[in-house]
Amino acid sequence: MKLLKKLFVFDFDETLVKCDRDHDAKTRYEDIKIIEKIEPMFSIFRSLINTYSDIVILTNRTYKCTEDIANALGIGITRILTRSYCLTRMEIDIVIAHPEDLEDFLLRMDHDKIDKLTKLAKNYENIYFFDDLKARYEKHGNMVPENVHIFLPIEVEK
Ligand SMILES: [Mg+2]
Repeated sequence: MKLLKKLFVFDFDETLVKCDRDHDAKTRYEDIKIIEKIEPMFSIFRSLINTYSDIVILTNRTYKCTEDIANALGIGITRILTRSYCLTRMEIDIVIAHPEDLEDFLLRMDHDKIDKLTKLAKNYENIYFFDDLKARYEKHGNMVPENVHIFLPIEVEK
């Protein structure tokens, strides 16, 4: 099987956009209220999407946000990969109330994204993945396939 050359993967929150955290807490992250597009990352994404077809969004938001993300980014829903594990409202409420207990939640997020990257990596020579939580993947270094290259989003200081 011939591998496709390269895939660009973008995280959503804090990589392409900043969302209203109070709104997120209120809606348990099932709805999106964007307060800012992160530049120049957002514009880089937009120009890339116009010229290159192998691009996906990889987010830990629920599938309920798929349409909102598609609308915000001007892309089709088939390009959006949302989290596959279930979180109960109670679990989300606990994390919102006790941010010090975030680690378990974050580990599940990491593993879900690494699983998806691992599947994608079988079809591409190289994957370029932009995620504001880049440092987290360093904890799981040997789980991330060698052809997945992770970068912090480019952000211009205001
Ligand atoms: Mg993020």
